[in-house]
Amino acid sequence: MQKKLVMDAAEIDRSLTRIAYEILEKNKGVTDLVLVGIRTGGVFLAERLQKKIFDIEGVKVPSCILDITMYRDDLLSAHRKPRIMKTEIPFSLDKKKAILVDDVLFTGRTIRAAMDALIDFGRPQSIQLAVLIDRGHRELPIRADFVGANLPSFLWEEISVNLIEKNGRDEVVVEDS
Ligand code: 5GP
Ligand code: MG
Repeated sequence: MQKKLVMDAAEIDRSLTRIAYEILEKNKGVTDLVLVGIRTGGVFLAERLQKKIFDIEGVKVPSCILDITMYRDDLLSAHRKPRIMKTEIPFSLDKKKAILVDDVLFTGRTIRAAMDALIDFGRPQSIQLAVLIDRGHRELPIRADFVGANLPSFLWEEISVNLIEKNGRDEVVVEDS
């Protein structure tokens, strides 16, 4: 198996800093913003964005967690169905600007399911998407508003997003199995 480092810790950190500024610029500040991390990788990234936004604006933007799991008969199957698991949204999303946060955007099916789930918690004013990696291969008309890095990939490649909170180090590695 070949491994290629595509983002190191400093690059991940700079991307997240840029995304934090972009979120604030696009939304003209923090008013009505809510960060929604998609478990598991997205939750840690949402927490980091929350800290960065606090450092810039001095405001702790509310954050919550969505848990969406894929049924995968086969990694490359077109029949992967996202299933919504436990969801922790302790407040209404009515009129909020929800920023969905995930580590990797691939077919778009997770995000479609996430949008469905969010709308059960009220009617957000808008839903925006921030991802660390966009690896292409969309199967739905979904795009990210904020992207750390565009990483065109082969279908068979696996992009490992290692984060200190779960793997003890920050790096993005492409694994060709
Ligand atoms: P999608 O639903 O867009 O096909 O896949 C996105 C979801 O699957 C994300 O929650 C992401 O964590 C996970 N995912 C898809 N492809 C990869 C990948 O290559 N690496 C990692 N780490 N996660 C992936
Ligand atoms: Mg995921």
